[in-house]
Amino acid sequence: ASKQRLLVVANRLPVSAVRHGEDSWQLEMSVGGLVTALLGVKEFDTRWIGWAGVNVPDEIGQKALAKALDEKRCIPVFLDEEVVHQYYNGYCNNILWPLFHYIGLPQEDRLATTRSFQSQFDAYKKANQLFADVVNEHYEEGDVVWCHDYQLMFLPKCLKERNSKMKVGWFLHTPFPSSEIHRMLPSRLELLRSVLAADLVGFHTYDYARHFVSACTRILRLEGTPEGVEDQGKLTRIAAFPVGIDSERFIKALELPEVQDHMKVLKQRFAGRKVMLGVDRLDMIKGIPQKILAFEKFLEENPNWRNKVVLLQIAVPTRTDVPEYQKLTSQVHEIVGRINGRFGSLTAVPIHHLDRSLDFHELCALYAVTDVALVTSLRDGMNLVSYEYVACQESKKGVLILSEFAGAAQSLGAGAILVNPWNVTEVASSIGYALNMPADEREKRHHHNFKHVISHTAQEWAATFVSELNVTIVEAQLRT
Ligand code: UDP
Repeated sequence: ASKQRLLVVANRLPVSAVRHGEDSWQLEMSVGGLVTALLGVKEFDTRWIGWAGVNVPDEIGQKALAKALDEKRCIPVFLDEEVVHQYYNGYCNNILWPLFHYIGLPQEDRLATTRSFQSQFDAYKKANQLFADVVNEHYEEGDVVWCHDYQLMFLPKCLKERNSKMKVGWFLHTPFPSSEIHRMLPSRLELLRSVLAADLVGFHTYDYARHFVSACTRILRLEGTPEGVEDQGKLTRIAAFPVGIDSERFIKALELPEVQDHMKVLKQRFAGRKVMLGVDRLDMIKGIPQKILAFEKFLEENPNWRNKVVLLQIAVPTRTDVPEYQKLTSQVHEIVGRINGRFGSLTAVPIHHLDRSLDFHELCALYAVTDVALVTSLRDGMNLVSYEYVACQESKKGVLILSEFAGAAQSLGAGAILVNPWNVTEVASSIGYALNMPADEREKRHHHNFKHVISHTAQEWAATFVSELNVTIVEAQLRT
């Protein structure tokens, strides 16, 4: 029998496209978590539908790109610059992202935002409809359609309106906030209703799923059941599907000569000192200033540690054209400079801060050689860095300090030291606790988490979601 087709719809395709001529494109597959997750799911014939991240105004270019993408099993959705500006930069990144991470709606320019809100939401709906059009064009009966993330909350409704038999799942990769937060959104009703058009709705944690159900019961006055949300006899199944990583890929990488070389260099460079590691996109949700201030407090209170520990912070630049992100960057630089000036010596500084990304091999080496990982997200859908760190620590058995506001706290809580990132005193004392932890406790904690990380992989996550979606539809048919 031929495999069931799976259409994965996400805002961005897993490729970057560079144009080399009127009808020539160079493509590079990116290796995000979602891509590796779905590559591992062999029982489906998978295709991707999404935006290629470039503006292609001309038809020749569009045709050529579609053809090149076809070889990678990708299908492009073309969005023009104005739509991208209003939908992606505006509604997705300026409104939904901060709201879902409890940062709230934009404040500084409140009036301007309030005025542009409706037009941004209109662009959001329009963009979602463009995605739906491409899905419809490529859909074949029996296909499973899996929509991803906050950029496509309107998609399930667009798809079901056209074809109520389509199997539609939707998964949110960010937190879903308390209904009291969601309530602030001017488009709160429409967004909930359109997500509910899906057959199965998935979140990383039970808390997010519960928040979503509460939003539906309080804001839409629908009935919440243990299975999901019911509207006039129609059930939308709501459940938690915590994502994982491709742990094998990390574990195997540690054996590569290249990674071993990086490890050797790092060990020499930091010989005689304990190394604490932070790896984050430079985003407000990651709590980087809070982390650095906690480290400062630790140094203040523990003079004997001052030249024996270093915090290595990788801050991957993101949305660098947005003023709030630029402000965050300078704020972090200022704190780092102050602390290094205060506690540095002629030969060493306590914080080693980089504004760049690392390649996969460098990253694995860092994960493997460092003594403590410090994840202080103020809110984080899951946080894969914490999983990746654990996967690479089989020989060293380092300590993970993890924010209780990261989704990963629900799964790695047994082995990690959980902290409230807002409580600088608590984080500072956890740093001390981690640095002084005896080997047997480190081993025990690491073992807990390692077992979890290797047995809850990204591949398994994807396979579970899709099979649950199939089951949900069979059950719905039985009910009617
Ligand atoms: N990452 C990377 N290069 C870097 C730093 C991080 O590719 O220099 C990857 C990292 O391996 C992880 C992802 O970026 O898979 C970050 O995912 P996470 O869930 O921790 O946070 P997000 O950035 O999605 O909010």
